[in-house]
Amino acid sequence: MKVYKFGGASVKDAEGVKNLLSIVRQTTGDLVVVVSAMGKTTNALERIVDTIGQGDKQGVDRLWKELLAYHEQIAADLGVKVKDVVADDALGAVMAHRNAKDAGYDDLYDTIVSVGELMSTSIVAAYLNQQGVQAQLWNMPELLITDGSFREAVVNMQASEQKMQRAWHDPYRPRVIVAQGFIGGTDSGHRTTLGREGSDYTAALIANFLNAESVTIWKDVPGILNADPRIEQNTVLIPELNYFEAVELAYSGAQVIHPKTIRPLENKHIPLYVRPFMHPDQPGTIIKEAPTEPVNVPVYIWRKEQVLVTMRAKDFSFVLEDSLTRIFDVISRCRLKVSLIQSSAVTVSVCVDNSRSLPKALQLLSERFAVTYNEHLSLLTIRGTTPELIEKERQGRTILLSQLTRRTAKFVIANS
Ligand code: ASP
Ligand code: MG
Repeated sequence: MKVYKFGGASVKDAEGVKNLLSIVRQTTGDLVVVVSAMGKTTNALERIVDTIGQGDKQGVDRLWKELLAYHEQIAADLGVKVKDVVADDALGAVMAHRNAKDAGYDDLYDTIVSVGELMSTSIVAAYLNQQGVQAQLWNMPELLITDGSFREAVVNMQASEQKMQRAWHDPYRPRVIVAQGFIGGTDSGHRTTLGREGSDYTAALIANFLNAESVTIWKDVPGILNADPRIEQNTVLIPELNYFEAVELAYSGAQVIHPKTIRPLENKHIPLYVRPFMHPDQPGTIIKEAPTEPVNVPVYIWRKEQVLVTMRAKDFSFVLEDSLTRIFDVISRCRLKVSLIQSSAVTVSVCVDNSRSLPKALQLLSERFAVTYNEHLSLLTIRGTTPELIEKERQGRTILLSQLTRRTAKFVIANS
């Protein structure tokens, strides 16, 4: 069997869903189709959660109606009905929480935000069936079992594998399955999410559990490029990458695949293809164990909205190892995403993604350390670099911190 994953941009309108159908039609074997929320739905649902938090009922109603109308339009364009199938449950989730000003934020977030994938998959599955491709809709909150760490739920590999294997071996299962990316559920039936952009990870997990032949991520880019075409001119496609390089790229901020995606695949030697949704005839990029072609161009990766936090012990009895333990304890409790670490005799600097838990983390760190920080920075990582390139990239930039290893340069930049 194979796993295909379609991101939000690939299913943002009826045209996208039709294109998905045509890609599915070109396959013959068993297929699990993992689908994200349509277009910018997840962002819209995040706004709904915030509006609930503000106690603004009318605002919630308005935003929800807009979002529902967007989905109904797509369903209507495809000639399927979505309202009865999913909107009621989804609506229920939103309404039940409309008053819940005091509900735990993360819990509320997962219940509401997961609705995006529930809606997209119900439309996609309905459309495939209407077009004669028999497809079964899997309800991932019942199949992908996680703990209750809402917004970044940890998958119970064993329980999920068992459930999915059972569903897969159902004698009435059709060739094609449609499954929600990004969402799962706890044992006790709470919906959870795996972290933003987590659908790639879902695809990799399903592939792992069902021993897939390959995973293909269909995207609105030609494959993995050596730089972001919106920033650099003359980008080139990287035809092959090994798992390790792919993780490095994802971790450095390349937005092509979710960093968690590789591990479940590497484990079982399953290749991952990143291919252009609009040009299914093109090969894209393949990520696998042992590529035949090495990456021979410098690769540029930008990670935006970084905060550089520097900590200095208050009492001058600085013991580096001990401080690192404390610092990383706070970082992990506040779920900050670290992109770079650097230490000196008396300070530790970390670069982290800006997030809503940052103020809390800064406050906790300030109890033990003198903390300074700069916001709105960018982290530029250049892999496969040369001294000449490094010189060129430094010019005209305010670099707050740089880190050089044999073939990789990292710059924290204030004015990119
Ligand atoms: N819909 C989710 C998000 O936008 C998950 C995904 O797209 O992978 O973050
Ligand atoms: Mg997405």
